[in-house]
Amino acid sequence: MKKHNFSAGPCILPEEVIKKASEAILEFNNDNLSLIEISHRSKPFVDVLKRAKELVIELLDVPNDYSVLFLQGGASLEFLMTPYNLLKKDGKCGYINTGTWSEKAIKESKKIGETLVIADSSDKNFSYIPKDYSIPNDLDYVHFTSNNTIFGTQFNHLPESNNILVCDMSSDIFSRKIDVSKFGLIYAGAQKNMGPAGATLVIVKNKVLGKTSRDIPSMLDYKIHIEKDSMFNTPPVFPIYVSMLNLQWLKKNGGINWIEKVNKRKALKLYQEIDRNKLFEGLANINDRSIMNATFKFKNNKHQERFDLMCVKKGINGLKGHRSVGGYRASMYNALKEESIDVLIEIMQQIEKENND
Ligand SMILES: *Cc1c(COP(=O)(O)O)cnc(C)c1O
Repeated sequence: MKKHNFSAGPCILPEEVIKKASEAILEFNNDNLSLIEISHRSKPFVDVLKRAKELVIELLDVPNDYSVLFLQGGASLEFLMTPYNLLKKDGKCGYINTGTWSEKAIKESKKIGETLVIADSSDKNFSYIPKDYSIPNDLDYVHFTSNNTIFGTQFNHLPESNNILVCDMSSDIFSRKIDVSKFGLIYAGAQKNMGPAGATLVIVKNKVLGKTSRDIPSMLDYKIHIEKDSMFNTPPVFPIYVSMLNLQWLKKNGGINWIEKVNKRKALKLYQEIDRNKLFEGLANINDRSIMNATFKFKNNKHQERFDLMCVKKGINGLKGHRSVGGYRASMYNALKEESIDVLIEIMQQIEKENND
């Protein structure tokens, strides 16, 4: 039996997707060749890229004045590409700092130009999403991280701003409905909820580009990638193919409306147990809890060893919290089945019972 995989990333993918992906490694398109040994410019692969792009557009309802790109370098390279492409030479940009990934984005942006931190939740180890802050109107863009993978918090409302909105959606893209038309730029590393590591999804509004008067290195220039339709250099063929399979799986099962309901149900179930169980406590502010990554811990650490052992026995993988938070983190990405949540809850109840007796 497969493990109950709560890994934060790279993360769980549906079994049927992994099976089809492995078949394509052996032979693709009934052609006695592997997917990973054919030209990226051959028709079978060009069709894969086209289909992957169409699925992104369809599932997220991407308006037609946006471009969809599959790039490399992960979300981490987008931290740099964002200011390169959007921050004017004498301009300013603003960042909402909600954790490690935001901090890394801020660090890169500061290398390119004037970068303001307009809100920050570091005072309580990023356990909440900042509210009551004001955003200046003269920024080239405002950047935020919709889901804070490490701390288990998530934005439930968009920041109020007239500026161009930029969002790192690495760990919650395709998990819930979003209105793409509200954003200038969205990016996401594939390996949290879309596919294997190695591809980065970028959705960019065409008219926000070309305004910085910067000489942008070709590989960092969205306009070049758009002109070449994600084929400026050899694209990551396998991650794109698996992402396509995964998006097909999502569409077949009912798309974003379906998965959002499933994800909310899974998260609610687990949070209810965290709140009910006398041994555990949640780590994120209740109103800002993420439906993708639940962070929690024992009130008393003495139970940890026993609990970890029980998890191993039941085939639970990847539950350890990030080193900057401690405790546990249950990542509940799209492909995680509700049964896996049930197994985790069962163990939580069992250890509570052992300590009641
Ligand atoms: C994992 C993660 C990243 C880093 O992604 P890479 O693809 O490894 O560069 C950035 N932002 C968020 C929100 C993440 O969860």
